[in-house]
Amino acid sequence: MVKAIVGANWGDEGKGKITDMLAQESDIIIRFQGGANAGHTIVNPYGKFALHTLPSGVFYNHTTSIIGNGVALNIPVLFKEINDIVSKGVPSPKILVSDRAQIVMPYHILFDEYEEERLKGKAFGSTKSGIAPFYSDKYAKIGFQVSELFDEVSLREKLERVLDTKNVLIEHLYHKPKLDAEEMFKTMLEYRDMVAPYVCDVSLYLDKALKEGKKILLEGQLGSLKDPDHGIYPMVTSSSTLAAYGAIGAGLPPYEISQIITVCKAYSSAVGAGAFVSEIFGDEADELRRRGGDGGEYGATTGRPRRMGWFDCVASKYGCRIQGTTDVAFTVLDVLGYLDKIPVCVGYEIDGEITTDFPVTTKLEKAKPVLEVLDGWKCDIRGIKNYEDLPENCRRYIEFIESRIGFPITMVSNGPKRDDIIYRKSALSK
Ligand code: GDP
Repeated sequence: MVKAIVGANWGDEGKGKITDMLAQESDIIIRFQGGANAGHTIVNPYGKFALHTLPSGVFYNHTTSIIGNGVALNIPVLFKEINDIVSKGVPSPKILVSDRAQIVMPYHILFDEYEEERLKGKAFGSTKSGIAPFYSDKYAKIGFQVSELFDEVSLREKLERVLDTKNVLIEHLYHKPKLDAEEMFKTMLEYRDMVAPYVCDVSLYLDKALKEGKKILLEGQLGSLKDPDHGIYPMVTSSSTLAAYGAIGAGLPPYEISQIITVCKAYSSAVGAGAFVSEIFGDEADELRRRGGDGGEYGATTGRPRRMGWFDCVASKYGCRIQGTTDVAFTVLDVLGYLDKIPVCVGYEIDGEITTDFPVTTKLEKAKPVLEVLDGWKCDIRGIKNYEDLPENCRRYIEFIESRIGFPITMVSNGPKRDDIIYRKSALSK
């Protein structure tokens, strides 16, 4: 059976923690999209880790961690991460890398930097990890699959051909030093040696695993609103963040995905540019940012302060719907314990009309939040294990949001640790 763990919003919802938690009872955890541009923060008995490429299941002995074909694979980052966790005492994880995964090339990262520099004030706020240039090349059919590293003759020939076109842009658009094919070839051979022990025909491996009844988790990166089709285009990422893409980015049948756990944070945060209707500013935002997550809402990869906002029912209802949610994991609720009153965005006002349906980007730019204010619970809810033991106002907050988004909240996360979780029965569960 296959479960997917995905985000409802802009990312940073706490997917890493939920994956780490569910990995306890899983055999295989797969990253199926995205690259090292975002990170998961995980707190477990070995310490606190920021993972960018490795799936969040690497901390267990019993799991196999897979980098699927849909991922933008940065080979040096993968190796740094493996070495980092092993040096902190985590047993050497079992890792497989799809032979069809494509490689983030050193020039993808350069192009990301050069383009942001060229765009100046109009830049997308890229993390400069090469993700957009990588996916552009993948779909322009000039990317490199891991399998191509193992055929030196055609690798060298293709590198020369690809670098010829790259150098035209480098020279005439960006006015930067040209790339050398021979040097790039040497780097590729280093990459090959780093990745060789892990390379695998992943879809075949998964086919066998499914037949053996193995439990598989798909781990998404970012969230619905960053999806290139269904998100806030163009302020999106370059690969699909939806559970449905898990089938493609891992290489398994779509009908095998039987549970889609969509992670929703109890308030909003976002990184990068783009419309963010329920955004808050000033002291109010600073305080939530400082108290948020586990040690503040700052990017796991970039350290950038995240933009903060109240919970957005419009965006989250849409985010859950577009994922095909079966279960909502409602996270980081403990953080709101300091507030007397908690505003929630329940609608958008666009050109004088109120809607609860998430609009296309052009309309989203004009949307103003319609807020409803709920009473806070003014206490620390960490350590509580049963839903009934949560303060009444806290349960009201959860149930209010559940009714507005229309998807069952079956898990409530009240702390960063693995066992800070409350399971709950929901009348909305199918
Ligand atoms: P991800 O990319 O979706 O995994 O999210 P991030 O790792 O960027 O952000 C989640 C942050 O919140 C991490 O620092 C987690 O350790 C932390 N976190 C996750 N769940 C909870 C929770 O229920 N309460 C608190 N206080 N922190 C949490």
